[in-house]
Amino acid sequence: MGKLLDIRGLSASAGEKPILHNIDLTIGEGEIHVLMGPNGAGKSTLGQVIMGNPEYAVTAGSIALEGEDITEKAVDARSRAGLFMSFQTPTEVPGVPLNSFLRAIVAQHGELQLKGKRYKKRVSQIMEQLEMDEAYLNRELNVGFSGGEKKKVEMLQLLLLQPKLAILDETDSGLDVDALSVVSRAISAYRDACAGSLLIITHQKRLLEHLAVSHTHVMVNGRIVENGDASLVDDINANGFERFIKAAPNRANAPDDAQPAHFDATAAVAHMEAALAAADAGKAGA
Ligand code: ADP
Ligand code: MG
Repeated sequence: MGKLLDIRGLSASAGEKPILHNIDLTIGEGEIHVLMGPNGAGKSTLGQVIMGNPEYAVTAGSIALEGEDITEKAVDARSRAGLFMSFQTPTEVPGVPLNSFLRAIVAQHGELQLKGKRYKKRVSQIMEQLEMDEAYLNRELNVGFSGGEKKKVEMLQLLLLQPKLAILDETDSGLDVDALSVVSRAISAYRDACAGSLLIITHQKRLLEHLAVSHTHVMVNGRIVENGDASLVDDINANGFERFIKAAPNRANAPDDAQPAHFDATAAVAHMEAALAAADAGKAGA
């Protein structure tokens, strides 16, 4: 299988704080990778750095997508190149209806050729798949949405964009059984539609049940400390992270650091603003 994402010797910081250390990670076309690790390990940060969140600085190493170095590329360019991330904590954006948000994203992805009727039809189709009432289109993005509804909005984006690589950051956390099964089906639908690759950050097995996991990675204190196959997920579910934490260097950096909830939100808003700006530019040019 061809290499899709190739991360070599990647280190990254937030301000003065080093978070990721010397990460190597290669994801092939169509592969499903799982990233596990205790809270505060740096899993979300890795996703953010792959997406190009400017809040983090790459201090060493490189990220390549289909052989092209994207380490310095902006978020919107990476999105157009086929990267997608669903956020652990989706942002609420008052004043922006879901429909406008989706149109902005689609406008940014001209290659999808989803205009007018085609756009409407595709969105209706996906919303039906996700068991989402179309009335949501007129509601402000994520405002007052339940956890499950917010995750459905993320799945809606996933199915609209059909990215080459989707990073799902704890998409399953806090979902009830029904919402979880909708999310699972959405992921299967994404796979069926385009055989896209996945990097799934999760603590649970449920979401993985119907997926053929090809690789599992364990992160502790900003380092990948173990690589394995699907059986590593079972091992961790049975035995926890204790042995990895004990073996990891840098134990003083408490692995259970509080997790700042707003960081994901910042990236989401930046992405959103870029998408809206692109949509405006498109309108002005038309
Ligand atoms: P995980 O997703 O594995 O729980 P995170 O990537 O969210 O871990 O966080 C890893 C560590 O980096 C934590 O100690 C967290 O507090 C810190 N961190 C993440 N983002 C920032 C940031 N923007 N500024 C400062 N510290 C951050
Ligand atoms: Mg996280």
